[in-house]
Amino acid sequence: MNNIACFPGKYIQGKGAILNLIDLIEVFGNKAIILASPTAKKFIPEQFFSTVLSEKIAVETFGGECTEQAIQHFIGAIQRASASLVVGMGGGKTIDTAKIAADRLGLPVIIVPTIASTDAPCSGCAVTYTPEGAFEKVHYQRLNPSVVLVDMDIIAKAPVRFLVAGIGDALATWFEARSCAANAAQNECGGYSTLAGQNLAQLCYDVLLKYGVQAKADNEANLISPALSYITEANILLSGIGFESGGIASAHAIHNGFTALPETHAYYHGEKVAFGLQAGLQMINAPDQEIREVVAFCHSVGLPITLADIGIDEVSWEKLMIVARKSTEEGSTIHHEGNNITAEKVYDAIIKADTYGRQFAASID
Ligand SMILES: [Zn+2]
Repeated sequence: MNNIACFPGKYIQGKGAILNLIDLIEVFGNKAIILASPTAKKFIPEQFFSTVLSEKIAVETFGGECTEQAIQHFIGAIQRASASLVVGMGGGKTIDTAKIAADRLGLPVIIVPTIASTDAPCSGCAVTYTPEGAFEKVHYQRLNPSVVLVDMDIIAKAPVRFLVAGIGDALATWFEARSCAANAAQNECGGYSTLAGQNLAQLCYDVLLKYGVQAKADNEANLISPALSYITEANILLSGIGFESGGIASAHAIHNGFTALPETHAYYHGEKVAFGLQAGLQMINAPDQEIREVVAFCHSVGLPITLADIGIDEVSWEKLMIVARKSTEEGSTIHHEGNNITAEKVYDAIIKADTYGRQFAASID
């Protein structure tokens, strides 16, 4: 197995960054089709609908779920528009639908995330769901997105809970990359990690600790500040390269376990990943100082630190064993933490993390 790292072709972040799309259409051919969610459509600049540009840009509305049916539907729209470039604009599911459709047609894809809630935009992987909304499978694209355009005017206006969820997703990146490196586990590019993957993951963690609280306050005030820009870069670029090229492990595996409980469905991916990280650190007996730093940071930005914080008010052995068994299924990334990871160990770790979080909250209230 080789050392592999994956990157987007170009990353552009800033105020009005979406306007770069006009020149990029010329770079990648002559006709683009934008897949946008109804919310994202509001952020398409007026001039894209002008007589000159409307001949070069088609817009398709995203239906809400990344299913095989939605992908087929969008492939039809790309072909009818004779587009040579695909643009995915919106949240994770819109982006994923655009990535898979473009990959199947062999077309370049540009991603315009309208929220900084996950590290999906830069990566070459995407997730499909069943029409009922249950996780189906991970799809790996042949190449990463050609360009990722992050417009800070849009990000600064987005509800703050999305940014905080993105911080939760990004918070796990360094710890999961570290476990993969320590246990010679495969990353999400299908190889061993590189120094680039590991170091960008570590930089991601440092940036979150330093600017997370300030960025949240600035997002609440809709202010494009240095802190909000650094955290946006950490959530999207550093965590994106960090998780894909560094690899994932227990935090995401335990997150996947929690998705089996309907009461957690109202909580975002990054919120569950943040608590999954705390359980994962308990499971590997991480130093108390490290656990305390993570828990204190989560508390300071409003990320979950107890089971109740992700909707699990009534805790039972049966219920948590459903989570623990799903987390430890064959092929789960939890096995990147080492050998002999059992459902019982995960159950104990979840209980320990919940107890730690409740004691932490009580100690500072
Ligand atoms: Zn994630």
